[in-house]
Amino acid sequence: MERIEIGTKENTELIGITGKVKEIVESIDIDSGICVIFTKHTTTGIIINENEPGLKSDILMLLNELIPKGKGYLHDRIDDNAHSHLRSVVLGSSVTIPIEKGNLALGTWQSIFFVECDGPRRREVSVKVVEG
Ligand code: ZN
Repeated sequence: MERIEIGTKENTELIGITGKVKEIVESIDIDSGICVIFTKHTTTGIIINENEPGLKSDILMLLNELIPKGKGYLHDRIDDNAHSHLRSVVLGSSVTIPIEKGNLALGTWQSIFFVECDGPRRREVSVKVVEG
């Protein structure tokens, strides 16, 4: 298992991690398998989509509209970040990508993003490659 450390800068942001995941996959000598990218936090997500600045803003706007801050959530009584946890629930904590001919078999427009929902913080993402 490998790790990617990320220092996020905003409260809510998308951070492209495709290059770092590719480096890890290329450093492991396998032809075929799967790669699991997993975030170890309850207020972050991992998603795959197009790396286009307008779309990245649209995704953040969607999260804001779907799950606004401070709507009377019960968890806000504890640490005032229920919306961050709920956004994480919607986004998911991991993605699995096939490996073919030693590389991530992503579609042309697919990129991997770490999504910060309660930053800025130090974050850690696990990358596990399984041969098969
Ligand atoms: Zn919390």
